[in-house]
Amino acid sequence: MASLGTLYVVSAPSGAGKSSLIKAYLADHGDNASVSVSHTTRAPRPGEENGVHYHFVNHAEFEKLIAQDAFFEWAEVFGNYYGTSKAAIQQQLEQGLDVFLDIDWQGARQVKKLQPNAKTIFIAPPSQAELLSRLQKRGQDSDEVIAKRMQEAQSEISHYDEFDFIVVNDDFAQALADLTAILRAQRCTQQKQAKKHQALFSDLLA
Ligand code: 5GP
Repeated sequence: MASLGTLYVVSAPSGAGKSSLIKAYLADHGDNASVSVSHTTRAPRPGEENGVHYHFVNHAEFEKLIAQDAFFEWAEVFGNYYGTSKAAIQQQLEQGLDVFLDIDWQGARQVKKLQPNAKTIFIAPPSQAELLSRLQKRGQDSDEVIAKRMQEAQSEISHYDEFDFIVVNDDFAQALADLTAILRAQRCTQQKQAKKHQALFSDLLA
């Protein structure tokens, strides 16, 4: 899958601000980047729309898609299935768009194996206390769910050293600037520029 676009896996514990960072990046760079919409068997949270935040399916539908080899990668997270369909990424990459996969560390590992050119980015919260406070402020989950998410956050964070890049989301604007710099630099690599500017180099070398 040689393309102008790059596949980015962005992972983080819940509450680190991953979705907000991707959303803010796309608000400025929507013409050359997009986010892959995953399939999941978990129930929609208030405000979540089918086809926008996730494709919400039941277990049987998900298993049928696995059998059809429709997934680029999939994993079981918090007792539910989550997966990235091949359809969700291929077309965008071929069009030269950068594609974000908002997935967990298990997905990051699978993607790196399948697509070694993919870049992985880990978003870390500035402290454990701040992570807890962000989860509580969401107001969508019960105390029990929050306690479970804090435990699961530790497990996600324990894989931070497997990623190509780390962005610490303390100051949001700074974290967004770091994310933007990572994508911008990647667009300037020799391979991408040579492909994009074939005519230029033919002219310069004529
Ligand atoms: P949430 O239920 O909070 O939306 O997501 C729970 C976890 O599942 C997050 O860590 C999220 O990144 C991960 N996740 C979402 N979509 C996918 C996917 O398609 N594949 C994998 N492996 N993980 C996913």
